[in-house]
Amino acid sequence: MTRPAPIVTDDNRDFWEGAREGRLIAQRCSDCGRLRHPPRPMCPHCHSLGYEPAELAGTGSIYSYTILHHPQHPAFSYPVIAVLVDLDEGVRVLSNLVGVAPDAVRIGTRVRVTFETTADDMAVPVFEQA
Ligand SMILES: [Zn+2]
Repeated sequence: MTRPAPIVTDDNRDFWEGAREGRLIAQRCSDCGRLRHPPRPMCPHCHSLGYEPAELAGTGSIYSYTILHHPQHPAFSYPVIAVLVDLDEGVRVLSNLVGVAPDAVRIGTRVRVTFETTADDMAVPVFEQA
């Protein structure tokens, strides 16, 4: 079974279309220039509604993680490692860590983005050890 497709909204369209192209995208505020993620309509720093999509390098380090065992969905293999990654550009992203045994995950480990295909020919960014 394929991983379910993401739900695309006006706010996250750039993020998911970027993922489908193998690019990790955040929002860069048109007024103060700061990056924000996850996608949202308003800058948390200056309250501007304007932004441009900004491609990120996709590298960072593990800020925290948890290992998910339940509830299980047939599209995923368990346990799933959920990670918070501090990207080098200064934004934090919630994702999955792949290709690493659950007992080998360490806070601070360097990771890089890769992409997994989902239903509807979409893709989701996940991270692997750098
Ligand atoms: Zn701003």
